[in-house]
Amino acid sequence: MRLSAKDLEHARAALHSGIARLESAGFVVGERPSLSVEPNLKIMGYTRGPAGQREIVIAGRALRFGVVDTLVMHELSHIVMSNIGHPSHNDRLIISVLHRYHRKLAEWKISILADGVNHVQNVYTDDVLAKALSKKQTKDTRSFFYSWLKTVYPRGRTAEQDKWSAVAVVLNNAFAVASLRRRRMLKPLAFEKKMFAKNGKFLKSAGLDEKTFGWFADFFTNLPKKTTRVGYRKLLIAFLDKVVEVTED
Ligand SMILES: [Zn+2]
Repeated sequence: MRLSAKDLEHARAALHSGIARLESAGFVVGERPSLSVEPNLKIMGYTRGPAGQREIVIAGRALRFGVVDTLVMHELSHIVMSNIGHPSHNDRLIISVLHRYHRKLAEWKISILADGVNHVQNVYTDDVLAKALSKKQTKDTRSFFYSWLKTVYPRGRTAEQDKWSAVAVVLNNAFAVASLRRRRMLKPLAFEKKMFAKNGKFLKSAGLDEKTFGWFADFFTNLPKKTTRVGYRKLLIAFLDKVVEVTED
């Protein structure tokens, strides 16, 4: 897609208002990050660079979908978490936990585990974000997470790849459901039913039961608000062991 000057202005305005919102909610963003838009970025966005030189990169389609304000605030919330040294943003800890699985698992499986770790990190990031969103933005996250749910998974070449691919979608969907449930936003009942119907369609097509999904949805929903480095390490290991258990048995 092509970006217009107006698009870039919109993105810059989102950065400006996002910082103001987070700071008025009591969070410290610190040195102002730069922002760029990558027209064809596959994921919605990410943040790169060390403290003081951070750069938020967002996808061109985030502008088109009108989620740019919340997306930029989500990235800013990652910066807040890194600044306070939250264990979920401790790269060395994450790498050392993932390293435990290198001996027994192939690289492509490790990358699915790493995506799972990102979901955990995003739950904590959105705890910050949730405190700074406007009422309208909060409401909009419902439809955002509904659209986040996947109903199919990419087929691999082997039964083993299919199984891991399906479990990756379980994690994706459990993250979406839990993100709303953690903030008591899985309501009204009609909306909750709609979410579960969409996810149920996926579970059925993948031949998976509610129990596996429920374990991960509960895990994300109930992540302890406060955690230490040691506590976080244990938590991640329990989570990743469960992913391995349901895929490798
Ligand atoms: Zn994120």
